[in-house]
Amino acid sequence: MRQALFLYSPQVWQTGHGSNHPLKPERLQRTYELLAEYGAFKAPNVKVIPPRAASDDELALFHTREYIDVVQQLSSGSYRQDVFDYGFGSEDNPVFAGMRELVGLSVGSALQGAELLLKGSCDVAFSYSGGLHHAAPNRASGFCVFNDAAVVIHWLLQHVQRVAYVDIDVHHGDGVQDAFYSSDRVLTISLHQDGRTLFPGTGAMEEIGIGKGQGYSVNVPLPPYTGNDTYLWAFNQIVPPLLERFNPDIVVTQLGVDTHYLDPLAHLELTTKGQMALFEALSRLAPRWLALGGGGYDISVVPRSWTLAFGVMSGQSFPDELPTAYRTNYGGESLQDSFSPTTEPPFVRESVELVVLKLKKLHSLS
Ligand SMILES: [Zn+2]
Repeated sequence: MRQALFLYSPQVWQTGHGSNHPLKPERLQRTYELLAEYGAFKAPNVKVIPPRAASDDELALFHTREYIDVVQQLSSGSYRQDVFDYGFGSEDNPVFAGMRELVGLSVGSALQGAELLLKGSCDVAFSYSGGLHHAAPNRASGFCVFNDAAVVIHWLLQHVQRVAYVDIDVHHGDGVQDAFYSSDRVLTISLHQDGRTLFPGTGAMEEIGIGKGQGYSVNVPLPPYTGNDTYLWAFNQIVPPLLERFNPDIVVTQLGVDTHYLDPLAHLELTTKGQMALFEALSRLAPRWLALGGGGYDISVVPRSWTLAFGVMSGQSFPDELPTAYRTNYGGESLQDSFSPTTEPPFVRESVELVVLKLKKLHSLS
């Protein structure tokens, strides 16, 4: 039985972007409550640990000192005219009080998971408040202020030789790809809705890395309306053989669940059944597994999907009927989706088959 760690404290949802922002803190609160009501944290192989803060030095593994200072100033209420230069001030990236503490906690959470994994205290750690993969060294982007994934991978590289990063968020993992674009010690793989149809616009197949890093950045762009079967088919064609060849010491995953058909910000058509199959596939590929959260903006979906994810990590299955207290507070009937989206249009499969064929050539897969 795998030793599984869940990194959480109520602090992760106390402040934040607020209820009117897509990245609403309720996503995290409801996920915790659903898992708790299912009794997931009582299993003998599960530990719940409160995350710690990240120091400025730790953030500086990826972010510039100047940017860390700016985030601190804005977080304490100082006004700056040049907030736009650092990616702030838009609807996507508002400035809010306590921002440094909150987003620093997501980074500390990932670091703590990584430390405990390397110590052998657990086999899998789920830092579900993180996965903030768009942030750049000196700029906030796409709801992300600090990039916990990039920071923790830099930290891991001080202790192990090779790290694989697999990003299944519906948006391209641009910040993490850029961080290691010229490295052969980090293999980044991102499956996402085609950047020509969705933020942040990057993640084309031809982005394969530069210099020593050539071949170590992998992008699988998928057309809108891609459903479970086609997504999983593409995943299985590309991800397992690449991971096997790379032979990482540790696998970091970003588990955004905005691939769901109900997600208001994107256009893939996965259901919880497809997402669970993905979590199971990742689980088989990652004996030592640092799982980060990520996107997901339908409040009826995120807690259910991440409950299924933690079930896979900790080897537990839960009854399909949602616990009474959860249903009373938030509605819903079942853990898995009870409806499926309409059938995938035929052009989707054809176009994904071409993507896979081209990727196999680009990355020398037979
Ligand atoms: Zn996303």
